Amino acid sequence: MFADTEKKERTLAQMQELNLPRMQAADIASPKEGVEPPAWYPTKLDEYLSHFLKPQPKFECVRCETPQTGFMGAMFGGFTWGLAHGEGFCETCRWPGRAYHFVKDENGDELCRLNVVLQYHPDELSQRDKAA
Ligand SMILES: [Zn+2]
Repeated sequence: MFADTEKKERTLAQMQELNLPRMQAADIASPKEGVEPPAWYPTKLDEYLSHFLKPQPKFECVRCETPQTGFMGAMFGGFTWGLAHGEGFCETCRWPGRAYHFVKDENGDELCRLNVVLQYHPDELSQRDKAA
């Protein structure tokens, strides 16, 4: 698909053409066998998580493959906090992500929270005009 040296240079349009899978509730949590899940599971969680990419096998960056978390992320430039609460980006290629997630219902009441680095799906992003 892309040579290693080209990965960091992939444009947003190229990333969107990859049709990468969106994250779903079942990728991160499932009810214990025999336990009735809450009424909002998985619909509300699927809805929230659909804005993010299904994580890579070792939580490496979808664009440049730099580990985002853990020891390897700390050593090689992983997830870096941004200015907005819970938001950040890959230090190597700047792909945006979020680490603090507050899943809410339509009334704004919190259903659950997740503390995990998830990168935004390319279709959720738009390119800011550098001249603007
Ligand atoms: Zn990256």
